[in-house]
Amino acid sequence: MRKFRREAAPEFLAGRWEAWGREWEERQRKGGSFHWHQVDGEMVNQRLLPGLRAQTQDHCSFCDAFPVSPPSDPTIEHFRPKSRFPREAYHWPNLYFCCRFCQQQKRERYEEDALRPDADDYEFERYFRCDFTTGMILVNERASPEDQRQARATIDLYGLNRDHPAWRKQQRYLRDRARDRPLDDFAYRDFVDG
Ligand SMILES: [Zn+2]
Repeated sequence: MRKFRREAAPEFLAGRWEAWGREWEERQRKGGSFHWHQVDGEMVNQRLLPGLRAQTQDHCSFCDAFPVSPPSDPTIEHFRPKSRFPREAYHWPNLYFCCRFCQQQKRERYEEDALRPDADDYEFERYFRCDFTTGMILVNERASPEDQRQARATIDLYGLNRDHPAWRKQQRYLRDRARDRPLDDFAYRDFVDG
């Protein structure tokens, strides 16, 4: 889970996201299901995806899979689930570019301790380390107990060590390259590029 910097919210969301959130809250109360709004004949999620995708250079915000393409289609992940936080369904800071695998792991679950890759104080090495031999993302044992709890919650929530195509790629990469160069954040990203 590589850190990224969030860009400013797209202009078309400003002044609308709150009303859309309240509308969804109301529809949910009546037992309705979630549908993205349309703006100028285009679904809001389709309109948001390019900007969200650009922020992470096309990598899944959570497992770092790249490129996010079928069978793991690009999706928009609501960090705080839209079922439980309906008013945040269109709130820009709550929306993340995400692969289908991560989203299917997490579904509508929410974990207060989970980490956000765009948080100011987030750094991969602060919370995690990578096992060279297996490609597994592990909790940084030198982190504070609180940081370790957050790291564990994030790994569990998004299933970061599950049997995932990106993860198999990581293992291949590790076998071939880990002996030759030290592992840093960029190398970690390269697992899934390689
Ligand atoms: Zn993912």
